[in-house]
Amino acid sequence: MKELSIHASNHSYKVQIGKGLRHTVGSMIAKDYSHVMIITDSQVAPLYLEDVKHSLTGTPIDTVIFPAGEQAKSMSQYEELLTACIENSLDRKSLIIALGGGVVGDLAGFVAATYMRGIDYIQMPTTVLAHDSSVGGKVAINHPLGKNLIGSFHSPVQVLYDVETLQTLPYHELRSGYAEIIKHGCLDDPDLFHDATSRSLADEAITEVLEDHLLKGIAIKASVVEQDEKETGIRKYLNLGHTLGHAIESEAGYGHVTHGEAVAIGLLFAMYVSKEKLEASMPIANLYAWLGKQGYPLNVLTHLDTSSLVDRMKKDKKSTSGKVNMVLLEELGKPVMMEVKETELTELLNRFKEEVM
Ligand code: NAD
Ligand code: ZN
Repeated sequence: MKELSIHASNHSYKVQIGKGLRHTVGSMIAKDYSHVMIITDSQVAPLYLEDVKHSLTGTPIDTVIFPAGEQAKSMSQYEELLTACIENSLDRKSLIIALGGGVVGDLAGFVAATYMRGIDYIQMPTTVLAHDSSVGGKVAINHPLGKNLIGSFHSPVQVLYDVETLQTLPYHELRSGYAEIIKHGCLDDPDLFHDATSRSLADEAITEVLEDHLLKGIAIKASVVEQDEKETGIRKYLNLGHTLGHAIESEAGYGHVTHGEAVAIGLLFAMYVSKEKLEASMPIANLYAWLGKQGYPLNVLTHLDTSSLVDRMKKDKKSTSGKVNMVLLEELGKPVMMEVKETELTELLNRFKEEVM
């Protein structure tokens, strides 16, 4: 098992990562909780819930299982979970365990952030993507008018990452999560970028390096978040690839392309804009070829209308007064923020579609 500590503004917490941790949760967490509630989804529950429950002895345990999928990050599901907290008499000394991917983490984390003005929770990520979402304390649900619009900053007291659980992850979810590993590499670790994009994700051998890639990704995210927890400055760099990525996700329709698949295209575009505006030398052709080989759905972009995508990018939370703020790269490992005007963005996106995609 490997671990690293993250220093949030009001407390520090450990990320522990290794094989089989779901069997030892009980001995790894604080003993003085009055009650533990495990929140998970319908796909993860049959695979791992019993293991986690078995490892917890002595404390009253409740479990709540909700239907898997992004649509669970809703007002109604949030209300149902709060009702379960109240009906099961959770108090301020109770603990919530979020067992699952980013959806479980965001939703259960938001319940923990708001129930009785905030109680402790532990993240137990079970997807590759959740190496990103389980660290940093951002928790949220969606509003019908936009993603992650209702949320809070509430860091977990611990992150327990059992990499064995990733063995059951469908391939397209592994691929989705790898986009965020590559993003972390682009931001602060060119070696991670090169190493990840020199491998085949479908190859069994990926499991040998996965833990190392996850740990490196988490360390990069943690270091950014420690410097800027509330996103007033450099935390915005974590949005690399997400300006176009979010626009693709919502324009294509959630469920048609995963978050990470959309971010992967967004990363390519960020590299293209970096080359055009900053004359940066970017491995665009290499990344394009690698993404194609792994089966990322690169052709979704060609079917989407440029002006609708630009409209969505203007509405991005990170954009101000109609101008789009993009994270670009001076070189691999050196992010910068840059404002791009609407007309320029339209032209760049059209050229990107023609020249790269
Ligand atoms: P997810 O939680 O929906 O998981 C993807 C699918 O895989 C689901 O169907 C899930 O049931 C299934 N699954 C999970 N673990 C499994 C396993 N071990 N074996 C088999 N199946 C498994 O999605 P995700 O990609 O993990 O997370 C996406 C969410 O994360 C989005 O809502 C996004 O907004 C959020 N997010 C949050 C942050 C943050 O900082 N809070 C950062 C990035 C993304
Ligand atoms: Zn993301």
